Parts: sequence; structure tokens; C-alpha cells
Amino acid sequence: MPVKNRFAQTHADITAWRHHLHTIPELQYDVHRTVAFVEEKLRSVGIENIMTGVGQTGLVAVIEGAQDTQGRVIGLRADMDALPIHEQTGLEYASKTPGAMHACGHDGHTAMLLGAAQYLAETRNFDGRVVLIFQPAEEGGAGGRAMCEDGLMARWGIQEVYGMHNMPGYPTGQFAIRPGAIMAAADELEITITGRGGHAAAPHEAVDPNLAAAHVLIALQSIASRSVDPLAHVVVSLCAVHSDTEAHNVIPQVTRMKGTMRTLDQQVRALVMDKVRLIARASAEALGCHAEVIIREGYPVTVNEQTHTEHAIKAARAVASQVDVDLPPIMAAEDFAFMLLERPGAYIMIGNGDGATVHHPEYQFDDDAIPAGCSWFAEIAEQRMPVNS
Ligand SMILES: [Zn+2]
Ligand SMILES: [Zn+2]
Repeated sequence: MPVKNRFAQTHADITAWRHHLHTIPELQYDVHRTVAFVEEKLRSVGIENIMTGVGQTGLVAVIEGAQDTQGRVIGLRADMDALPIHEQTGLEYASKTPGAMHACGHDGHTAMLLGAAQYLAETRNFDGRVVLIFQPAEEGGAGGRAMCEDGLMARWGIQEVYGMHNMPGYPTGQFAIRPGAIMAAADELEITITGRGGHAAAPHEAVDPNLAAAHVLIALQSIASRSVDPLAHVVVSLCAVHSDTEAHNVIPQVTRMKGTMRTLDQQVRALVMDKVRLIARASAEALGCHAEVIIREGYPVTVNEQTHTEHAIKAARAVASQVDVDLPPIMAAEDFAFMLLERPGAYIMIGNGDGATVHHPEYQFDDDAIPAGCSWFAEIAEQRMPVNS
């Protein structure tokens, strides 16, 4: 397939960059060594317009096209952070930091955007500007939101924005995408049910929060089956259930439950939050208890704009033989969602072949995907901002 020829030449270098990044995984916003490496590589290929410290530790760099007749600006984003996982790949370039690992392939994303940057800086075959966005803290730290709140889109005049993630289980270097919601909103749920403790042999003299918790737990599953359109997607999972006793003859005073809610639509998301609060409070009250419900809003739904999804597909078809345009939505959440709330754009998956899934201690990014990934970033810039001859 016609990946850009230049990447056949730079593939080995980009792979070496990726392996180096893999040895130095950094968590959340603490990506200082990674940022220093990114900055050094960008400068080595002649990119001087660089700003660090955006959204705490994000890096933004600008590549000017051969022309700028239309004022066009495209943002291309990669995430840089790793996970608190102890690597078990046995690779010679495995993590040198115990308890931290690039188990989501963000080292691959960063290396591929660096590779595309090198090509774009060499060729500058576009009419406008490319803004490279290297973000920290994708894994739960909302680094994308932090960069947006630091004025990313307005300060650099970004008009549309594109991101990519590797996908194990899909052929290496092939692409998959869908218009609309591609990844879920994820919100954290905490329910504290207070009753009145007592002797387990005299339940009539106590108010059992465990019984109320059991009712709440079951009743919350009615949201997916009875409150939400069957064709919509919703997950309510209660994952931790703890009372304040370890004894077998004590009715506890308090029972706490923790869980997660996943949705693919903003309206469904709001409905689920309302229903969770109502059901928990009313079910607990019916059994004489009091329920306190805390919902912590996480990442919003990642929504691909229709026309920009088509742009992403066109770029993918230029470099890969297989582009699945109807990828089923994924119920995991993605911080790129915040960037897509501010500017239209698209988020695409690149196949990572067979092997362990992301977030697994044996996960490995497939370096054979690098030419296709670099080519896609470069194609987006060249196709969306063609040079007038
Ligand atoms: Zn991840
Ligand atoms: Zn990831």
C-alpha cells in the first residue's frame, strides 16, 4: 500500500525513538523527560516554534507550510503519558522505571507524530500551518482539558483537530473509525447508605444499610433495561461494595458502593445521572436509610464530526488497504473528547495486530504500524491544506 516512501527510510529511526520513549515511561503530568526528548527531536528536524508548559506539561509546536494563502490551521495530537503497571514483556527496551509502563502505546503515538513532523518539516507541502499537540495525562488526568483550558485552540488558531490511537485485535497499520460517538463518557459514582447499626440477632431494632444497598444495586440495573432507549448504550457498574463491619453478627451503620457509568450520548448521560440519584435515594429511603450520591464527571463522549470523519477516512484510504468506517463504539473513555468539544475533528484507530490488549502488562505496540500512522498524519495535513500550483 502507498504509505509515503519517506517513511520507509525513516521507519528505523522512528522505531528507535519509540523504543527510547518506551524505556522512560512517565505518569500523568510528570512527563518532563518525554517532553525534553520530543523538543530535542523537533529541533533536530528544524522545528523552532515550540512552546512547553501548555496545560501544565503539554508541548505545542508549529510547522509552517510552503504557502499560507488561506489562513488554514490543522491540529494533530498525540498523548505522551504511561500507566502505573509493572511491565512483563521481557523486551530489551522494557521500562526502566519499576511500576510504570507504556501499556497503552502512547510512546507509539508520540513517535508517529514526531515522524510525521519530520516529514512535514522537510516537505512543507501544504498551504497553512500544522500545530503539533503533545499532551500529558490522558490516562485519567484530563491533560487534554488542561491544554484546552490553557487556550490551546484559540492561541494557536486551530480550526480542526485529529487524533489517533492504536487498536490491538485489528490488522497492523489498517484503520477503523466511525462518525458520531466513538468512545464513551465515563463518570464515577459513589453511594453512601446510612442506616442504624445493631445486633444481627435483633434486626427489627436496627436499620440495615446492607439490605438497602442490595436493593439499590439491583434497582440501578433497571436504568439500562427500563429508562434508556434499548438502542442507546449505557453501562452502570457497581464495582466496590463495603460496609463498616467485618463481623458476622453486626448490622453495620454505613454501606458504601463505588462504580462507573458509561454512555455514548450527552442526553442519555444526563438521564442516567438523574436516574441514579433518584433510584438510590428513593430505594434507600423506602427501607429506612439515607443515601448520599456523589457523581464525579469524567471524560465526555468522544464525538467524531461527520465531515471530518470523511476527511480522516480519505487520508486513511490513501495509505491503507483496509479502512473500517463502521467501527462499533468503544465503552472506554478518551481525553481527546475535550479537544473535539472545542473544535470539529476526528479520532481514528490504527490496527496493532494480535497480542495483548492495551493496559495489560504484556502489551506491545507494533512498530510495523509506524509508516501507516505517520503517513495518515501527513496525509491529513496535505489533503486538508493542498498547495495551489
Ligand atoms: Zn489507556
Ligand atoms: Zn491510550
